[in-house]
Amino acid sequence: MKTCFKICSVFLLGVTLTFSLSRTAFCTGKYTLTPVDKVVILELHGDNNFPVGKSDSLVSRRGDIRYTGKQQPPLEARGMGLLVEITVADKKRTILFDAGSRGDVMRSNFAYFGKNPAAIEAIVISHGHSDHFGGLPETLSMIQNRGIARKIPIYVGSEAAFETRYFCWPDGALKGPWKWPGQSVARLGGSYIIGGPRLLPGGIALYTGPIPYITAYENINLARKNGWCIKDADGMTRMIDMPEESALVLNVKNRGLLVISGCTHRGVVNTLRYAQQLTGINSIYARFGSYPAEDKDKLMQDLLTLKPAVFIGAHCSPNKPELMRTLRTELPQYGILYYQSVIGSEFSFPGAEDSN
Ligand SMILES: [Zn+2]
Ligand SMILES: [Zn+2]
Repeated sequence: MKTCFKICSVFLLGVTLTFSLSRTAFCTGKYTLTPVDKVVILELHGDNNFPVGKSDSLVSRRGDIRYTGKQQPPLEARGMGLLVEITVADKKRTILFDAGSRGDVMRSNFAYFGKNPAAIEAIVISHGHSDHFGGLPETLSMIQNRGIARKIPIYVGSEAAFETRYFCWPDGALKGPWKWPGQSVARLGGSYIIGGPRLLPGGIALYTGPIPYITAYENINLARKNGWCIKDADGMTRMIDMPEESALVLNVKNRGLLVISGCTHRGVVNTLRYAQQLTGINSIYARFGSYPAEDKDKLMQDLLTLKPAVFIGAHCSPNKPELMRTLRTELPQYGILYYQSVIGSEFSFPGAEDSN
């Protein structure tokens, strides 16, 4: 907040009023993120392991045995679990973003990729779907079994995440239920932090808390004929739009925001714009996550305005093949790199040195 006002006053005093007004967006952010030196995201638990190309300077394809020479690929199961390693002031900080659907997959893949669950300082849950929280008890148990006595904070967007959920079909058929693991989380050393926005300790990342609809065209969940639902007290089903959905936002030094989301039910553009609003930082370095079946023309139009340097599709994004094809082929034409993350993809986002 303090830094933000300093930037404003410099513009007001030193440059023309017109220019200062154009920069006021820098002053709306209430949350000051610490610029971090490097962020590495490893897709630890994922539902896709199809070939997506070789490694390059941004990504290492650690789950593709054609390149790694390993005998076996990592375990694969529907869901998302990302290990986010942040380097700041020569220290490595580790956050788990979502915990996948299956504890056995989390356990196996921690070992496969040589990662230590005890390094996890906090777990952030994007939303209350079981393919994002199912592996939570097993992950906490792995941390506890390594002698870690401290409580592990678990960030959840709102109480809505704990609802028992179903998938509703137009003919009235239901799939589910899926239930939050409940008491086992506290028993295994987890401690909930509910709601947001919240800065993580040291300001190294921001958990957005519930993402509002800023772009109307991304408010699509409640109008769907088949989709996620809950049962009301009278047993009637009601469609839901995952109101608790939250994202994780980091400020990569001299590059801009890195925005990580899960299924992104509440929209790619909503998520990115909300990250900008909260932080007061307009430049977007990269976004990582799935995307819903959005209006592709409007999405493309907004992305060309937001202009992330890197756009990464993950998790259930291949379920929208037409949109995936459009983003993959068209974004690079406008200078936006498109990558697909599959299990074992490890993306590295280094900050840039100061120019003076
Ligand atoms: Zn979901
Ligand atoms: Zn999901």
